[in-house]
Amino acid sequence: MSLPKIEIDVNKIRKNTEYLTTLCKKNHIQVAGVTKVFCAMPEVVEAMIHGGIAYIADSRIENLKPFKNYELPKILLRLPMISEAKRVVEYADISLNSELDTIRALNKEARQAKLKHQVILMIDLGDLREGFFGKEDLYATIRETMTLDHIEIIGIGTNLTCYGGVVPTKEILSKLVTYKEEIETDFGIKLKILSGGNSSSLHLIEKGTMPEGINHLRLGEAIVLGRETAFGLSIDNTYEDCFRLQAEIIELKSKPSLPVGEIGMDAFGNKPSFVDRGIRKRAILAIGKQDVSISDLIPYDREIYLLGMSSDHLIVDVTDSNNDYRVGDSLSFTLTYGGILSTMTSHYIHKYII
Ligand SMILES: *Cc1c(COP(=O)(O)O)cnc(C)c1O
Repeated sequence: MSLPKIEIDVNKIRKNTEYLTTLCKKNHIQVAGVTKVFCAMPEVVEAMIHGGIAYIADSRIENLKPFKNYELPKILLRLPMISEAKRVVEYADISLNSELDTIRALNKEARQAKLKHQVILMIDLGDLREGFFGKEDLYATIRETMTLDHIEIIGIGTNLTCYGGVVPTKEILSKLVTYKEEIETDFGIKLKILSGGNSSSLHLIEKGTMPEGINHLRLGEAIVLGRETAFGLSIDNTYEDCFRLQAEIIELKSKPSLPVGEIGMDAFGNKPSFVDRGIRKRAILAIGKQDVSISDLIPYDREIYLLGMSSDHLIVDVTDSNNDYRVGDSLSFTLTYGGILSTMTSHYIHKYII
C-alpha cells in the first residue's frame, strides 16, 4: 500500500450511523447523512446507508452526482449558486434555500427538466450564517414561491454552531416549531420537514429536551468522529477512530533543538521561535501542509511531539518514545474534523477502505 495513506473503517462508520439513527428514530427524527467531510467516497456513503440514514446530504453538487440513481433523496446543503441551478435540479432532489432569486432560477430549470424541485427554507436563529433573518423576508418569499409551479416547499430548517458558535437550546429550536405552526396556519400549507440542525443539536436528545416537532437532523461529524459539536464531547457507544492516517519516516537523526545561525523567516514567512532541549532524536515524515494542518493530527504514540511542518514535511521529536523507529517505518494519527476534510481532499493521500 502506498503512503501517506488514510484507512477508513467502514464497519465503524456503519455502527456509528446505526447507533445515531436508532437514537434519533426513538425521538421521531430522520437523519440526513452528511458526506462532505469525506468527499462523499461511495464506500463510506454505502456504510451510512446501511446504518439507516434517510437522505444523502452534501454541500457540493460534484459530491452528489455519483448518487443520481440511488433511491435515497439527495439534499444540497450549501445554498445553491444561481449559476449552478441546472445541475442542482438534476442531481439534488432537495436544496436548502434563503434567496428568492435563486428559487426562481431553480423553478426555471426544474420546468425545463420537467420535474418538481423541493426546497427547505432556512431560518437564521442567531448563528449568522445562512437563513432568513426575521419574518418579513421569509413570508414574502413563501408567498411568491407558492406561485412557482415547479417548486415545492417541503419544510423549514436552521443551522447553528457554525459561524457564531450559538449552541442549540430548547428555547431556540422551539422558535423553529413556532415558525412552522404559523406558516402552516397563515399559508394553509403543510410542512413535512422541520430540520433542527447538525451534530450540535444531538445533546438535546440526550437531555430529553428536543422540542416536539423537530423531525430531521443533518449529521456529519457525529457519524464520522463519534462527537457532538455543541460542547465537543464524545458520544457513548460510538467510534472516534473511523479514519486513521499513516505517514512514513524519511529521515531519522539526532540534531540540536535550536537552529544554527541567524533566524530569519520559515517557509511561510513567519519568524519561528524555539526552546533549547538539547540534542533530540528527530524524525521527518513525508506529509505536509499541502495535505493537512499540524494541529489536526493526533498521534497514536503519546510519547512523540510534533515540532513543525512545511509544505511537504512533518518534523517529529521521537526521543521519548518507547518505539525504536527506523527510516521506512510509518507513524499513525487520528484526525480532527478539519484533518479528515483536508486529507480526504488531498490528491496525495491514498485512501483505503478496511
Ligand atoms: C456541514 C453541514 C451539516 C453537518 O454538520 P456536522 O456538524 O458535521 O453534523 C449540516 N447542515 C449544513 C447546512 C451543513 O453545511
